[in-house]
Amino acid sequence: MIRRTFIAALAFAAALPVTAWAEAPLKVVATTGMIADAVRQIGGDEVDVKGLMGPGVDPHAYRQTRSDIVAMTRADLILWHGLYLEAQMQDFFHDLGRKRPVVAVAEGVDTSKLRAHDDYADKFDPHVWMSPALWRDVVVEVQAALTEARPEAADLFASNAQVHLAEIEQLEAYAAEALASVPENNRVLVTAHDAFGYFGAEYGYEVMGIQGISTQSEAGLNRIGELVDTLVGQQLGAVFVESSVSDRSMRALIEGAAARGHEVGVGGELYSDAMGEPGTYEGTYVGMLDHNITVIAGALGADVPDRGMNGKLSAGF
Ligand code: ZN
Repeated sequence: MIRRTFIAALAFAAALPVTAWAEAPLKVVATTGMIADAVRQIGGDEVDVKGLMGPGVDPHAYRQTRSDIVAMTRADLILWHGLYLEAQMQDFFHDLGRKRPVVAVAEGVDTSKLRAHDDYADKFDPHVWMSPALWRDVVVEVQAALTEARPEAADLFASNAQVHLAEIEQLEAYAAEALASVPENNRVLVTAHDAFGYFGAEYGYEVMGIQGISTQSEAGLNRIGELVDTLVGQQLGAVFVESSVSDRSMRALIEGAAARGHEVGVGGELYSDAMGEPGTYEGTYVGMLDHNITVIAGALGADVPDRGMNGKLSAGF
Protein backbone atom coordinates (compact mmCIF):
# COMPACT_ATOMS: atom_id res chain seq x y z
CA MET A 1 0.00 0.00 0.00
CA ILE A 2 2.74 2.39 1.01
CA ARG A 3 4.71 1.40 -2.03
CA ARG A 4 1.78 2.01 -4.40
CA THR A 5 1.18 5.48 -2.98
CA PHE A 6 4.84 6.27 -3.38
CA ILE A 7 4.79 5.16 -7.03
CA ALA A 8 1.63 7.18 -7.69
CA ALA A 9 3.28 10.25 -6.14
CA LEU A 10 6.33 9.76 -8.32
CA ALA A 11 4.19 9.44 -11.43
CA PHE A 12 2.35 12.62 -10.49
CA ALA A 13 5.59 14.50 -9.93
CA ALA A 14 6.93 13.30 -13.28
CA ALA A 15 3.74 14.28 -15.11
CA LEU A 16 3.46 17.74 -13.57
CA PRO A 17 6.22 19.56 -15.42
CA VAL A 18 4.97 18.19 -18.75
CA THR A 19 1.49 19.54 -18.09
CA ALA A 20 2.92 22.88 -16.99
CA TRP A 21 5.06 23.11 -20.17
CA ALA A 22 2.14 22.31 -22.41
CA GLU A 23 -0.11 24.95 -20.88
CA ALA A 24 2.07 28.01 -20.51
CA PRO A 25 3.45 29.58 -23.69
CA LEU A 26 7.24 29.82 -23.86
CA LYS A 27 8.22 33.36 -22.81
CA VAL A 28 10.60 34.80 -25.39
CA VAL A 29 12.19 38.24 -25.48
CA ALA A 30 13.66 39.41 -28.81
CA THR A 31 15.56 42.63 -29.46
CA THR A 32 14.54 43.70 -32.98
CA GLY A 33 11.07 43.55 -34.48
CA MET A 34 12.40 41.31 -37.26
CA ILE A 35 13.52 38.63 -34.78
CA ALA A 36 10.27 38.96 -32.79
CA ASP A 37 8.35 38.39 -36.03
CA ALA A 38 10.31 35.21 -36.82
CA VAL A 39 9.53 33.94 -33.30
CA ARG A 40 5.84 34.70 -33.80
CA GLN A 41 5.70 33.02 -37.23
CA ILE A 42 7.46 29.85 -36.03
CA GLY A 43 6.21 29.68 -32.44
CA GLY A 44 2.52 30.39 -33.01
CA ASP A 45 0.48 29.86 -29.84
CA GLU A 46 3.35 28.02 -28.14
CA VAL A 47 5.20 31.28 -27.59
CA ASP A 48 4.56 34.62 -25.99
CA VAL A 49 7.06 37.04 -27.53
CA LYS A 50 8.05 40.51 -26.47
CA GLY A 51 10.04 42.63 -28.94
CA LEU A 52 12.12 45.31 -27.21
CA MET A 53 12.57 47.67 -30.18
CA GLY A 54 9.41 49.07 -31.72
CA PRO A 55 8.83 51.10 -34.90
CA GLY A 56 11.39 53.85 -35.50
CA VAL A 57 13.85 52.53 -32.91
CA ASP A 58 17.52 52.50 -33.91
CA PRO A 59 19.16 49.25 -32.73
CA HIS A 60 22.69 50.67 -33.05
CA ALA A 61 21.89 53.20 -30.32
CA TYR A 62 19.39 51.29 -28.18
CA ARG A 63 20.09 50.57 -24.50
CA GLN A 64 18.04 48.22 -22.33
CA THR A 65 15.45 49.89 -20.10
CA ARG A 66 14.53 48.83 -16.59
CA SER A 67 11.37 47.10 -17.83
CA ASP A 68 13.37 45.29 -20.55
CA ILE A 69 15.63 43.88 -17.85
CA VAL A 70 12.62 42.70 -15.83
CA ALA A 71 11.15 41.01 -18.94
CA MET A 72 14.47 39.31 -19.71
CA THR A 73 14.94 37.97 -16.21
CA ARG A 74 11.48 36.37 -16.45
CA ALA A 75 11.95 35.00 -19.98
CA ASP A 76 12.57 31.35 -20.89
CA LEU A 77 14.62 32.43 -23.91
CA ILE A 78 16.26 35.68 -25.03
CA LEU A 79 17.12 36.23 -28.69
CA TRP A 80 19.28 39.09 -29.91
CA HIS A 81 20.72 39.76 -33.34
CA GLY A 82 24.44 39.96 -32.58
CA LEU A 83 27.08 40.89 -35.20
CA TYR A 84 27.52 44.11 -33.21
CA LEU A 85 24.08 45.43 -34.23
CA GLU A 86 23.03 46.12 -30.63
CA ALA A 87 26.38 47.78 -29.96
CA GLN A 88 25.27 49.37 -26.68
CA MET A 89 23.95 46.08 -25.27
CA GLN A 90 26.88 43.85 -26.17
CA ASP A 91 28.30 43.54 -22.63
CA PHE A 92 24.84 43.22 -21.13
CA PHE A 93 24.01 40.17 -23.28
CA HIS A 94 27.36 38.54 -22.64
CA ASP A 95 26.74 38.82 -18.88
CA LEU A 96 23.11 37.70 -19.17
CA GLY A 97 24.21 34.65 -21.17
CA ARG A 98 25.90 33.26 -18.08
CA LYS A 99 22.56 33.13 -16.25
CA ARG A 100 19.86 32.76 -18.90
CA PRO A 101 19.45 31.03 -22.29
CA VAL A 102 20.59 33.80 -24.67
CA VAL A 103 21.17 33.29 -28.41
CA ALA A 104 22.62 35.75 -30.97
CA VAL A 105 20.62 34.43 -33.93
CA ALA A 106 22.43 36.27 -36.77
CA GLU A 107 25.75 34.90 -35.58
CA GLY A 108 24.61 31.49 -36.83
CA VAL A 109 24.92 32.71 -40.45
CA ASP A 110 28.00 31.29 -42.17
CA THR A 111 30.64 34.05 -42.08
CA SER A 112 31.56 33.37 -45.73
CA LYS A 113 28.17 34.94 -46.62
CA LEU A 114 28.77 38.11 -44.59
CA ARG A 115 30.05 41.48 -45.76
CA ALA A 116 32.88 43.28 -44.03
CA HIS A 117 32.09 46.17 -41.67
CA ASP A 118 33.50 49.43 -43.01
CA ASP A 119 34.42 50.79 -39.57
CA TYR A 120 35.84 47.69 -37.84
CA ALA A 121 38.24 45.28 -39.50
CA ASP A 122 37.22 42.39 -37.21
CA LYS A 123 33.46 42.82 -37.60
CA PHE A 124 30.76 42.15 -40.20
CA ASP A 125 27.90 44.23 -41.56
CA PRO A 126 24.95 43.19 -39.34
CA HIS A 127 22.09 44.17 -41.73
CA VAL A 128 21.45 40.60 -42.96
CA TRP A 129 17.64 40.96 -42.92
CA MET A 130 17.95 43.11 -46.05
CA SER A 131 18.69 39.94 -48.02
CA PRO A 132 15.73 37.55 -47.81
CA ALA A 133 18.05 34.64 -48.68
CA LEU A 134 20.30 35.43 -45.69
CA TRP A 135 17.31 36.04 -43.45
CA ARG A 136 16.16 32.47 -44.15
CA ASP A 137 19.35 31.32 -42.41
CA VAL A 138 18.41 33.44 -39.38
CA VAL A 139 14.87 32.03 -39.38
CA VAL A 140 16.39 28.54 -39.21
CA GLU A 141 18.50 29.67 -36.21
CA VAL A 142 15.36 30.99 -34.50
CA GLN A 143 13.63 27.66 -35.14
CA ALA A 144 16.61 25.81 -33.60
CA ALA A 145 16.63 28.03 -30.51
CA LEU A 146 12.88 27.59 -29.96
CA THR A 147 13.19 23.83 -30.45
CA GLU A 148 15.96 23.60 -27.92
CA ALA A 149 13.91 25.58 -25.41
CA ARG A 150 10.77 23.49 -26.01
CA PRO A 151 11.59 20.15 -27.66
CA GLU A 152 7.98 18.91 -27.23
CA ALA A 153 6.86 21.44 -29.88
CA ALA A 154 9.59 20.54 -32.40
CA ASP A 155 7.14 19.31 -35.05
CA LEU A 156 4.94 22.39 -34.83
CA PHE A 157 7.98 24.69 -35.05
CA ALA A 158 9.29 22.75 -38.05
CA SER A 159 6.03 22.95 -39.98
CA ASN A 160 5.49 26.65 -39.18
CA ALA A 161 9.07 27.38 -40.23
CA GLN A 162 8.48 25.63 -43.57
CA VAL A 163 5.46 27.84 -44.25
CA HIS A 164 7.36 30.99 -43.32
CA LEU A 165 10.45 30.05 -45.35
CA ALA A 166 8.23 29.45 -48.39
CA GLU A 167 6.71 32.91 -47.91
CA ILE A 168 10.20 34.43 -47.84
CA GLU A 169 11.09 32.58 -51.06
CA GLN A 170 8.02 34.11 -52.67
CA LEU A 171 9.29 37.51 -51.51
CA GLU A 172 12.68 36.78 -53.11
CA ALA A 173 11.04 36.01 -56.44
CA TYR A 174 9.07 39.27 -56.29
CA ALA A 175 12.18 41.26 -55.32
CA ALA A 176 14.23 39.82 -58.16
CA GLU A 177 11.58 40.66 -60.72
CA ALA A 178 10.66 44.13 -59.44
CA LEU A 179 14.23 45.31 -58.91
CA ALA A 180 15.43 43.97 -62.27
CA SER A 181 12.77 46.04 -64.03
CA VAL A 182 14.37 49.31 -62.85
CA PRO A 183 16.34 50.92 -65.74
CA GLU A 184 20.02 50.02 -65.26
CA ASN A 185 21.27 53.61 -64.88
CA ASN A 186 18.84 54.18 -62.03
CA ARG A 187 20.00 51.27 -59.88
CA VAL A 188 21.50 53.47 -57.22
CA LEU A 189 20.18 53.61 -53.68
CA VAL A 190 21.06 56.69 -51.63
CA THR A 191 19.96 56.29 -48.01
CA ALA A 192 20.58 57.82 -44.57
CA HIS A 193 22.94 55.06 -43.39
CA ASP A 194 24.58 51.98 -44.91
CA ALA A 195 21.89 49.42 -44.10
CA PHE A 196 21.45 48.22 -47.68
CA GLY A 197 24.81 46.57 -48.46
CA TYR A 198 23.39 43.03 -48.65
CA PHE A 199 20.40 44.28 -50.59
CA GLY A 200 22.62 46.03 -53.14
CA ALA A 201 24.94 43.04 -53.51
CA GLU A 202 22.06 40.69 -54.08
CA TYR A 203 20.14 42.77 -56.61
CA GLY A 204 22.95 44.59 -58.36
CA TYR A 205 22.38 48.06 -56.91
CA GLU A 206 25.00 50.59 -55.99
CA VAL A 207 24.29 51.70 -52.42
CA MET A 208 25.45 54.90 -50.78
CA GLY A 209 24.68 55.90 -47.21
CA ILE A 210 25.25 59.34 -45.74
CA GLN A 211 26.31 57.63 -42.52
CA GLY A 212 28.24 54.38 -42.37
CA ILE A 213 27.09 50.91 -41.30
CA SER A 214 26.52 52.13 -37.75
CA THR A 215 24.44 55.26 -37.12
CA GLN A 216 26.78 56.25 -34.30
CA SER A 217 29.19 58.37 -36.31
CA GLU A 218 27.97 61.79 -37.48
CA ALA A 219 27.97 62.35 -41.22
CA GLY A 220 30.73 64.76 -42.18
CA LEU A 221 30.30 67.66 -44.57
CA ASN A 222 32.79 65.91 -46.85
CA ARG A 223 30.53 62.91 -47.19
CA ILE A 224 27.54 65.11 -48.02
CA GLY A 225 29.65 66.96 -50.59
CA GLU A 226 30.71 63.66 -52.22
CA LEU A 227 27.12 62.46 -52.43
CA VAL A 228 25.94 65.77 -53.92
CA ASP A 229 28.64 65.30 -56.60
CA THR A 230 27.33 61.81 -57.31
CA LEU A 231 23.68 62.91 -57.48
CA VAL A 232 24.50 65.74 -59.85
CA GLY A 233 27.08 63.78 -61.85
CA GLN A 234 24.88 60.72 -62.40
CA GLN A 235 21.69 62.80 -62.61
CA LEU A 236 20.01 60.71 -59.93
CA GLY A 237 16.48 61.85 -59.15
CA ALA A 238 15.58 60.10 -55.89
CA VAL A 239 16.98 59.48 -52.44
CA PHE A 240 15.36 57.54 -49.58
CA VAL A 241 14.75 58.40 -45.94
CA GLU A 242 14.65 55.77 -43.20
CA SER A 243 12.07 55.28 -40.47
CA SER A 244 14.69 54.75 -37.75
CA VAL A 245 17.18 57.51 -38.69
CA SER A 246 16.78 61.31 -38.62
CA ASP A 247 16.29 62.86 -42.08
CA ARG A 248 18.36 65.96 -41.23
CA SER A 249 21.38 64.95 -43.33
CA MET A 250 19.11 63.88 -46.17
CA ARG A 251 17.65 67.39 -46.32
CA ALA A 252 21.18 68.81 -46.49
CA LEU A 253 21.86 66.51 -49.42
CA ILE A 254 18.73 67.55 -51.32
CA GLU A 255 19.47 71.25 -50.68
CA GLY A 256 23.08 70.75 -51.79
CA ALA A 257 21.96 69.26 -55.08
CA ALA A 258 19.33 71.99 -55.54
CA ALA A 259 22.02 74.66 -55.04
CA ARG A 260 23.76 73.15 -58.06
CA GLY A 261 20.60 73.21 -60.13
CA HIS A 262 19.76 69.52 -59.81
CA GLU A 263 16.41 68.56 -58.37
CA VAL A 264 16.28 65.46 -56.19
CA GLY A 265 13.11 64.13 -54.58
CA VAL A 266 12.52 61.77 -51.66
CA GLY A 267 11.65 58.42 -53.25
CA GLY A 268 9.93 57.30 -50.06
CA GLU A 269 10.56 56.20 -46.51
CA LEU A 270 12.20 52.80 -46.08
CA TYR A 271 12.16 50.47 -43.12
CA SER A 272 15.86 49.96 -42.62
CA ASP A 273 16.51 48.80 -39.06
CA ALA A 274 12.97 48.73 -37.64
CA MET A 275 9.63 47.49 -38.96
CA GLY A 276 6.28 49.28 -39.25
CA GLU A 277 3.53 49.49 -36.61
CA PRO A 278 2.65 46.25 -34.79
CA GLY A 279 -0.50 44.64 -36.14
CA THR A 280 0.00 46.04 -39.66
CA TYR A 281 1.42 44.20 -42.69
CA GLU A 282 4.47 46.52 -42.60
CA GLY A 283 4.93 45.42 -39.00
CA THR A 284 5.93 41.94 -40.25
CA TYR A 285 9.22 40.96 -41.86
CA VAL A 286 7.63 40.08 -45.21
CA GLY A 287 5.58 43.31 -45.22
CA MET A 288 8.62 45.41 -44.30
CA LEU A 289 10.65 44.04 -47.21
CA ASP A 290 7.69 44.13 -49.62
CA HIS A 291 7.31 47.83 -48.75
CA ASN A 292 11.01 48.55 -49.31
CA ILE A 293 11.20 46.63 -52.60
CA THR A 294 8.02 48.19 -53.96
CA VAL A 295 8.98 51.75 -52.93
CA ILE A 296 12.55 51.45 -54.26
CA ALA A 297 11.60 49.84 -57.58
CA GLY A 298 8.68 52.23 -58.08
CA ALA A 299 10.62 55.40 -57.24
CA LEU A 300 13.50 54.41 -59.50
CA GLY A 301 11.29 53.89 -62.51
CA ALA A 302 9.94 50.32 -62.52
CA ASP A 303 6.31 49.46 -63.09
CA VAL A 304 5.36 47.80 -59.79
CA PRO A 305 2.00 46.64 -58.39
CA ASP A 306 0.48 49.55 -56.48
CA ARG A 307 0.12 47.66 -53.18
CA GLY A 308 3.09 45.36 -53.41
CA MET A 309 3.53 41.69 -54.12
CA ASN A 310 0.20 40.54 -52.72
CA GLY A 311 -1.83 43.73 -52.51
CA LYS A 312 -1.39 44.18 -48.76
CA LEU A 313 0.69 47.36 -48.47
CA SER A 314 -1.24 50.08 -46.64
CA ALA A 315 0.17 52.98 -48.63
CA GLY A 316 0.59 52.17 -52.27
CA PHE A 317 3.48 53.55 -54.23
ZN1 ZN B 1 21.67 50.00 -39.31
